[in-house]
Amino acid sequence: MRYVDEFRDKDLVKRFAQEIKGITPRRKINIMEVCGTHTQSFRRFGLKKLLPENIRLIAGPGCPVCVSHQDYIDLAIRLAQEKDVITITFADMLRVPGTNSTLEKIRAESADVRMVYSALDSLAVAKLNPHKRVVFLAVGFETTAPTIALSILAAKDAKIKNLFFLSSLKLIPPAMGYLLEDEALSLDGFLCPGHVSAIIGTKPYEFIPKEYGLACCVAGFEPVDILEGVYLLLKQITTNHPRVDNQYSRVVKNSGNPTAREIMYSVFKEAAVFWRGLGELPKSGLVIRNEFSRFDAEKEFCLKQNGRRALERKTKCRCGDILKGIIIPSECSLFAKACTPDNPVGPCMVSGEGACNAHYRYQ
Ligand code: SF4
Repeated sequence: MRYVDEFRDKDLVKRFAQEIKGITPRRKINIMEVCGTHTQSFRRFGLKKLLPENIRLIAGPGCPVCVSHQDYIDLAIRLAQEKDVITITFADMLRVPGTNSTLEKIRAESADVRMVYSALDSLAVAKLNPHKRVVFLAVGFETTAPTIALSILAAKDAKIKNLFFLSSLKLIPPAMGYLLEDEALSLDGFLCPGHVSAIIGTKPYEFIPKEYGLACCVAGFEPVDILEGVYLLLKQITTNHPRVDNQYSRVVKNSGNPTAREIMYSVFKEAAVFWRGLGELPKSGLVIRNEFSRFDAEKEFCLKQNGRRALERKTKCRCGDILKGIIIPSECSLFAKACTPDNPVGPCMVSGEGACNAHYRYQ
């Protein structure tokens, strides 16, 4: 298949593995990937075995379900329990544990919770159920936000009055900036997310080499992409010439997708939001602009997201530390014992893009 086979080519994979070996310094190299699809692909294709042992690829806050704060999950569950409310969500959200329950459990108890593949599907649900209030759980990064913005614009055009959006949309570069302030992490570089970069381009990462002297490379998701991305990072590290490389130029333009950004920012504005594990980060999320406030579930249901209100669930789950790159999944005492994909204790085990889930399934 075009654009797949050539990026899974075994000879090319071997060549990059050799090249990487040839330029890897003796010291430990810590590279963080901030994209759930990188986390999944790296483990699924067994790429760890091809890298020298002193190169550590650390999963960061790149899984949208995992970084959604527990307070958001609790609010979503509370809304779904309201009379005459239909809750619409992407599948991964169903099993994420809130403080006392999950959307999946309350659905079994009769709450109307439905799964969709696109935010645009929520318009049809709202039209077919004019006497109910329909709430879409808007979770994701810069990749998902433009489609959700489009759905709000389409709902406005169609004069739909019973559709609301509960935003937990997040922006990746501010989270990367937060991690860079943590000296304990001692990162050498970032494998930057391919999907997010298709929207934002490469410029938003430039502060990383400039202000922190760290290497960056936007990479795709096939084995050749990831290995070439690591190779380009190592070249920057060994020559002490940090910059932002773009390995994924077949998809990512350096300028990103200005039209998608324009749509996104016409409906949303940047705001401080709460991340699981990382806390409240300034300008790291997207909230609905006042002009579209009639679609804002927080306003309709008089809610306010507040990460400080969420009670810590009494478990030993260490998703917060995993999202910050402090530990790897097998260092959590519940990993593969009390916590498995069939019985997830924390969000990082729920989603296929979660570090614990990928670690469990492929290692
Ligand atoms: Fe949380 Fe389970 Fe991961 Fe441990 S293994 S950090 S309990 S999701």
